[in-house]
Amino acid sequence: MAEGGAGPGTNEAWFARAKRVIPGGVDSPVRSFASVGGAPFTVARGQGPYVFDVEGNRYLDLVQSYGAVLLGHAHPVVRDALTRAAADGTTFGMPTPGEVLLAEDICERVPGCERVRLVSSGTEAAMSALRLARGVTGRDRIVKFDGCYHGHADALLAGGGSGVAMLGLPGSAGVSAAAVADTLVLPYNEVPELDDSVACVIVEPVAANMNLVAPNPGFLEGLRAACDAAGALLVFDEVISGFRLAPGGATERYGVLPDLWCFGKVIGGGLPVGAFGGRAELTDALAPGGPVYQAGTLSGNPLATAAGHAVLGHVGEADYAALSARAGRFAAALGRVIADAGLAVWTGAVGPLVGLLVGPPGAPGASPPRDLLDVRAWVAGGAYPRLFHELLARQVALAPGPYEVLFPGLAHEDEHLEAVLEATAEAAEAVVARWE
Ligand SMILES: *Cc1c(COP(=O)(O)O)cnc(C)c1O
Repeated sequence: MAEGGAGPGTNEAWFARAKRVIPGGVDSPVRSFASVGGAPFTVARGQGPYVFDVEGNRYLDLVQSYGAVLLGHAHPVVRDALTRAAADGTTFGMPTPGEVLLAEDICERVPGCERVRLVSSGTEAAMSALRLARGVTGRDRIVKFDGCYHGHADALLAGGGSGVAMLGLPGSAGVSAAAVADTLVLPYNEVPELDDSVACVIVEPVAANMNLVAPNPGFLEGLRAACDAAGALLVFDEVISGFRLAPGGATERYGVLPDLWCFGKVIGGGLPVGAFGGRAELTDALAPGGPVYQAGTLSGNPLATAAGHAVLGHVGEADYAALSARAGRFAAALGRVIADAGLAVWTGAVGPLVGLLVGPPGAPGASPPRDLLDVRAWVAGGAYPRLFHELLARQVALAPGPYEVLFPGLAHEDEHLEAVLEATAEAAEAVVARWE
């Protein structure tokens, strides 16, 4: 063991060690540099908007654990909550006040959400919401949209085809055809016609796993109406948008009420938490009161709920408004500096979520992406990996893949974002200069 579990040791040495005991050296494939080339750096610690690698290099971090961190790294509010909670024991397998407080936080903020059950990840939340939807409706089929991510449960690891309505194909080896046989994968931003075989439609109300795709005006309202007409449930996967776009997430922002919600990321304050819920008449179908089984040894874990409660208690409407305004200005300026350097670019923001699509020099710019096909066309130009590495060399860390959004958070002050813009201007110029 290296001292403190982090240094001494180089990034290279740590990654080599990691690969000897962890498949691919990473515990989640998005962390690998497979789509940008090279090897990941190993993080020793984080502070506010920064992460530091094991060699002591400091990066302005726009990953923020893929949106799990809202206040910035190692925020004192979270640290204090964790210290207090840890002193009282970390897990009991019995009800605790902490889980009640976090569930109250969620139900108070999200319009129409009366009950939530806490789980340990977004994947579990989405998987459980599907089971509940199927259990309540007595129907099997589910509808998802191409490019939306709902975690890695088998039924949700289905890929769509060429933009036409189609039954899902397994999105991974190891997912059986049977597991996705009832999953219909449709293009985002098109309201489908549903029949009475459909248990639920699950959607990211703002799609943030195919870069950033905003819902067209009328899309979410259309899904609501289509579900009502078919007797299907509408499930909002707010694992990213929840408690990030606004206190009440996308539900508050767009004013469309789903039947069920999935949450994760921000609600754990950086610890493993997810939640799913909805109106009481629906969640009453869950065990122990109802026939839909769902469980978890560490669900509602005292440390995780303490961290989540601390974060949600620390932010209010004004913080979200300020963050959204800052992110909007940042997205616009980011687009300007990249375009000025001569790369094709689209940037956009939905609340604090920032989308960035870059293309080769001289490629046509910039209409907002509507669905996965639009995003794929940008990605195919191959500009992102180059910009990513030029930025990393200038101490700015974006996600190592073109399908992620940027997560400026409450620790990113104007000065930090200004530094990102300066680095980006240089990085984009370097990309253009080296383009052959
Ligand atoms: C991250 C994510 C998930 C999965 O959450 P995990 O905690 O990684 O299992 C589900 N849905 C959306 C929209 C996500 O962004």
